[in-house]
Amino acid sequence: MSIREDTRRSKIYLDNAASTPIADEVVQEMIPYLTTYYGNPSSLHSFGYDSIRAINLARKQVSSLIGAKPSEIIFTGSGTEADNIAVKGAAYYARKKDPRKNHIVTSAIEHDAVMESCLDLKRNGFEVSYLPVDRDGLVDSGKLEESISKEKTAVVSIMLANNEIGTIQPIQELVRIVRQRSDAVLFHTDAVQALGKVPISCSELGVDLMAVSSHKINGPKGVGGLYLREGSKVNAIISGGGQEKYLRSGTENVHGIVGFGKACELLLQRSDNINKAIRQLRDQLVKKIIAEIPMVRYNGPSGSDLRLPNIAHFTFLGVNGEDLLMKLDEHGVAASTGSACSVRRQKESHVLRAMGFSLPEISGSLRLSLGPQNTEEEIDHAVAILKAVVEKLREFSPLKYTLDRNCYNHNIRGD
Ligand code: PLP
Repeated sequence: MSIREDTRRSKIYLDNAASTPIADEVVQEMIPYLTTYYGNPSSLHSFGYDSIRAINLARKQVSSLIGAKPSEIIFTGSGTEADNIAVKGAAYYARKKDPRKNHIVTSAIEHDAVMESCLDLKRNGFEVSYLPVDRDGLVDSGKLEESISKEKTAVVSIMLANNEIGTIQPIQELVRIVRQRSDAVLFHTDAVQALGKVPISCSELGVDLMAVSSHKINGPKGVGGLYLREGSKVNAIISGGGQEKYLRSGTENVHGIVGFGKACELLLQRSDNINKAIRQLRDQLVKKIIAEIPMVRYNGPSGSDLRLPNIAHFTFLGVNGEDLLMKLDEHGVAASTGSACSVRRQKESHVLRAMGFSLPEISGSLRLSLGPQNTEEEIDHAVAILKAVVEKLREFSPLKYTLDRNCYNHNIRGD
C-alpha cells in the first residue's frame, strides 16, 4: 500500500483511528469513476451497467475481506449509517413481527453511532441494557447472559474493537452465549476499527450484522458497509428509490464504493505484513514513552489478541489531555484523546468512565494510533516532543492528585 509523500508533509500523523490517508492505488482506481464512468447505476443503458459492474466488483472485494458472500454486503454512506441501519432496522423489524420484542442489549463503551441509535430507540419505547466492562474494556459476559430475555430481546450490539482503547471483544464467545439463551436475537457488531487490523470472518464469528467503514482503511470517506447475514431481516430507515436491497436508498457513491473495494483488496493481500509492522512500531512507541516519561500508564488489556495492533492509549498523570493535544499539534504531532466526534463536543469519554477511570485519569488521556505510513524516525521524534510537552504542562499543573501513583510506570503491561 503506498501513501503519497506529500500527505506526510513535515507533520507526524498519529491519529489513524480517526481517519487515514487514502492509498495511491485506491485513488487510481477511483479516478475513472469520477471522469469516464459517470452513469447512474440504476440506469438501463451501458453507462449504468459500467457503474453496476464496478459496484459488484467492490461487493466481492469487501465480502472477501470479512468472510461473507457478496450478496450479504449493503453499501452505506458511512460506518455510522451502517450501525444505524443495523441497530434501529433490526429492532423495528423485530417489534413489528412481535410487539413484545422491545429490548436491546449493548455495551457501555460503544461508539456514538450505536449509543445514539440506542437512545433513539429508547425514545421510541424500547428498553436498553448497557453491559458493564472491566478496567481493560472487556464486556462482562456473565451480565450479557443475565440480560437476555428470550421473550423481549430483539438485538444485541457489541463492538468488535473499541475506538479509544483498542480492546477486542471475544465476539464469537459472546454470540455463543446469546444463542444459548435465544436464537431469535440478532447480533450486531461494530467492526469499524477492527476491519483490516485483525482477521475477520463473519461466518466464523456467527454475527448477523456487522458495520464497516472505508476511511479507516486508507479508503475514501463517505462510504461504509453493512454485512447482513443471509436470511436476517431489518427495516429500512431511509426511504427512496430502493437501492441496496431497499435498505439504503439513494444513488450509490460509485467512486467511493470502488475505492472502498480496492482498499479491501489491498488489505486482503497485505494486511498480515502491514499489521506486523504497525504492531512493532506501536510497541516501540509504548516502550519509549514508558521509559522516558514519568507518571504515565499504558491502558488496555495485556495480550496481543485482546488489543488492536495500531492503537496505544495512555494516561499522563497531572496533564490535561486537551492542552496536551493542542501543544502536540503546535509541534506538528496529530493525536487524539479518543473518538473524533467526542472531542468536537468536548464531552467526557463515556468509554473511560465505563472502564472505571477517575476524572483526572480521563482528563490526562491520550490516544496515539498508527498507520502504514508512519516510520521509526517519526515515532522517535514524536516521543521526544511528547516528553517535552508533558514536562512543560506539568510545570503548570503540579501532580496534586490523590491517585494511586504506584500504578503509573510500575505495572505497565506490554503485549
Ligand atoms: N464505529 C466506530 C467504532 C468508529 O470508530 C467510528 C468512527 O470513528 C464509527 C463507528 C463511525 O464511522 P464513520 O466515520 O464511517 O461514520
